[in-house]
This record gives sequence, structure tokens and C-alpha cells, in this order.
Amino acid sequence: MTQASDSPRVRLYVKHPLGPGQPVVLAQDQAHYLFNVMRLGAGDAVTLFNGQAGEWRAVVRAVERRGGTLECVDQRAPQRDPPDLWLLFAPVKKARTDFIVEKATELGAARIIPVQTRFTNAERVRTDRLQAHAVEAAEQCGATFVPEVAELVRLDRLLAGWDAGRRILWADESPDAPGAALATLSPGPWAVLIGPEGGFAGAERDRLRALPFVTPVALGPRILRADTAAVAALTLWQAHLGDWA
Ligand code: SAH
Repeated sequence: MTQASDSPRVRLYVKHPLGPGQPVVLAQDQAHYLFNVMRLGAGDAVTLFNGQAGEWRAVVRAVERRGGTLECVDQRAPQRDPPDLWLLFAPVKKARTDFIVEKATELGAARIIPVQTRFTNAERVRTDRLQAHAVEAAEQCGATFVPEVAELVRLDRLLAGWDAGRRILWADESPDAPGAALATLSPGPWAVLIGPEGGFAGAERDRLRALPFVTPVALGPRILRADTAAVAALTLWQAHLGDWA
């Protein structure tokens, strides 16, 4: 039997402990999705994950007007955490920012930090909305982990408090950026840094160049849009140092 025909149609992230016989009380929006949108009823199966306990099969026990209860049956897959890779990115326009969060989740980023740089237009970002995009992406891509989307932080503050044990792979669009020899990068905790549509300011570039834990990388001879650059840099890192091997 194929995986698809055997597995439930609905895969749901819940903020709830999961274990054999564990009842899971649904929030109103989740109940609406399961019972009104997906038309599930009592006895139907659902796949659940909570970001920590792998993937579980559950069944609908109670359907209520504004809620409902599921019951966990058995674990279907173990927890799989992504590699220790963060994405630091300057928010761009709404749809492209959503895309960046969605793709970073699919590609296996462990944490996503929106960064305010000199030329970043977004004054504030709706972290809760971006977090919901990460949850949705994890639900659809089969991940058992949801990356945390952090609050927007200024680049200078972020760098001032940075733990030097985590290296930064800086996507540097300047024509003289060295094409870092990715094969020589050492494994360990990393973060990828992507700038805004306006690029990095001269002072930011100088600061980044002077930091010992920052490695610039060139992503080819063309200027990529920030969303493309995020996908490209995460892909390169994953292929060299991540869990794609
Ligand atoms: N306005 C800038 C381009 C910014 S592109 C200019 O014309 O120079 C947005 C971000 O994507 C950049 O800050 C960088 O982090 C990344 N990026 C785009 N193209 C890149 C390339 N060829 N190499 C490395 N990084 C790139």
C-alpha cells in the first residue's frame, strides 16, 4: 500500500504533548479546519506532530460545535530535527517575506530571524503571521519540526551579542565578494545572512568583513532577489554541510 493511501489526509501541528492514548483538545480554528473544511468526523484519522515528539496517528473522538477532541494512537515517525542552521534575513515585501519563511522551513532551517538593516524597508514584521507560515509549511512538507520565527532585531544589535561559536555565511552581493570555497567550510552551528533589496550599506559591509566568524559567499555573477538568494544560500549550505548528504 502506498504511503499516500495509507496516511491520513490531514497533517496538523499541535502545541500539545503527544503519547499513547493522549487526548488532544482542539482549538476553535483547528476544529473548524478539521470538521468544516476537511469534513472529518468521529473515528477519522489525523496525523499530528508537536515539534518534539515525532509524528503520531490520532483519531477524532469528539466533534463539537466550537471544538473537539482527538486521541493519539501510535507514533508513526520519530522526531527529526533540522541541522543547526539559522536564517537571518532582512524582511522585504509581504509576499516575498512569506515565501522566504515558507522556503526556509521546507529547506530545513532551525531558526528564522528577521533582521533590520540600514536599507530594510519593513519597520515592523508580524512575527505571529510569519510563525503561522512556518507551521503551515512544516505541516505540508512532512517535517516534524517547526522553526521558531524570532522578533525583528537590528543587525548591529544582533552582531554585538553574537555567539562567535556560530559562524555566519554572509551572502555578499558586491562584485568583489570572494566566492567562498564551500568545500572548506567546517561543520557546526551556522547562520545564513541575506540582505534587503537595497543591499548592505558600506558600514555594514565593513563591519561584517571585520568579524572573524563571518564568511562571505558569492552566489554567482547575477544579482539575485532576496528571496532567491535565501533559497540559494540555504541550498548550498544544506548540500555541503547539512542533512541532504
Ligand atoms: N540592491 C543590491 C542587491 C540586493 S539583493 C544591489 O544592487 O547590489 C538582496 C540580497 O540578496 C543581498 O543583500 C545579498 O545578501 C543577496 N544576494 C543577491 N545576489 C547575490 C549574489 N550574486 N551573491 C551573493 N549574495 C547575493
